[in-house]
Amino acid sequence: MYDPKSSKAEEFISHEEVMDTLEYAQQNKSNLALIDSIIEKAKLRKGLSHREAAVLLDCDIEEKNQEIYKLAEQIKKDFYGNRIVMFAPLYLSNYCVNGCVYCPYHLKNKHITRKKLTQEEIRIEIAALQDMGHKRLAIEAGEDPIMNPIEYILECINTIYSVKHKNGAIRRVNVNIAATTVENYKKLKDAEIGTYILFQETYHKESYEKLHPTGPKHNYAYHTEAMDRAMLGGIEDVGLGVLFGLELYRYEMAALLMHGEHLESVFGVGPHTISVPRIRHADDIDVSAFDNGIDDDIFAKLVACIRISVPYTGMIVSTRESQKCRERVLHLGISQVSGGSRTSVGGYAEPEPEDEKSEQFDVSDTRTLDEIVLWLMELGYIPSFCTACYREGRTGDRFMSLCKSGQILNCCHPNALMTLKEYTEDYASEETKKAGEQLILAEMKNIPSEKVRQIALNNLTQIQQGSRDFRF
Ligand code: SF4
Ligand code: SF4
Repeated sequence: MYDPKSSKAEEFISHEEVMDTLEYAQQNKSNLALIDSIIEKAKLRKGLSHREAAVLLDCDIEEKNQEIYKLAEQIKKDFYGNRIVMFAPLYLSNYCVNGCVYCPYHLKNKHITRKKLTQEEIRIEIAALQDMGHKRLAIEAGEDPIMNPIEYILECINTIYSVKHKNGAIRRVNVNIAATTVENYKKLKDAEIGTYILFQETYHKESYEKLHPTGPKHNYAYHTEAMDRAMLGGIEDVGLGVLFGLELYRYEMAALLMHGEHLESVFGVGPHTISVPRIRHADDIDVSAFDNGIDDDIFAKLVACIRISVPYTGMIVSTRESQKCRERVLHLGISQVSGGSRTSVGGYAEPEPEDEKSEQFDVSDTRTLDEIVLWLMELGYIPSFCTACYREGRTGDRFMSLCKSGQILNCCHPNALMTLKEYTEDYASEETKKAGEQLILAEMKNIPSEKVRQIALNNLTQIQQGSRDFRF
């Protein structure tokens, strides 16, 4: 029985409801009147239901698809302007007791190098990340109650926040660790994490159980209900995601949106972010063994449909994707990208030796952060290192109401410029610095409020003189 308010995974992600949705979408994929009415609804910028989004995803009328892309682009501009938030992943440990068949960290992989960073190694990695210019991290760890207990994760978060190297600081630590208890989520909340991220991998229960044959992650309900426990533990910002390629993308998008609808109806807050990773080659993993892979065109359509369905939810694309592909989806709805990433345990301070590889997947976009910052500016975007919201207590429904009313833009835009200024002062190459200075100068004129512009201008001067960490 489908019930978005239920606390049971199989009721808020009801398989029957997903299947009915897919059938409805197939039946209506050429229904011009319905598609027009859904596009009109999407133009109100209040989002779409999973059923409506599924119809647009299946829509086979080329002219309407172009309208969908155009609308996604417009909504992206309205909610996020031309800013792109930057982050980097940091893998703490690849010890894992699970058997996920798509991940090289699975327990049975005996030839991958297993590593776990010590606190001293973390300090060195953080200094290296700060020297690149990063301010926002997503920490990742395999599930291993003995090697990576919650106490280890908490200690790592504490260490990360404590490192102040030159002018650098990691100001927001997002956490991507295995589903856990309400009690542990409370501990993460107390450790002042930003977003708790957990990818569902696939919402299709039968496939989920096959893809996770062993280990605690095998338990579909425990994994799928994790965000409810995180919210009960006081974490208001949660990040959803699916690993596209494991199951039918149509199934996944409908279920992903149902998950968001569930959180909204129970807790009054939808997901803070949605990630859209696609399966990648890795040690021990052959992508061709998964027959639900999606091409770049479908990927672009997915991003566009998610963007117009949940306009106020940030969307993340990582360095799994190539420069070309990232460029395409940036226009359609992506608001956050990683840069200069290492998907190995450590590897920022020193490259890993060839015979000690610990990567989770092959990176496709291997450019440095500086190259990515410059590239974004050349495309007309403002790379932003802003981390202001959770530090100002703008989380959960408070954040969402500011987002939905569009007021958040009054913070995002000047914050982007001030944090970019910090980047150009402290870390940029000559070429990037020059482009950054020009961009900041031009963009300052676009701050509508005279008062905000004056404060931002004053802050920019102070940054030039050596002060750091201003925010609205
Ligand atoms: S996906 Fe996560 S839980 Fe699964 S094997 Fe990899 S690290 Fe472990
Ligand atoms: S002001 Fe808030 S929403 Fe805007 S970029 Fe900064 S942290 Fe994100």
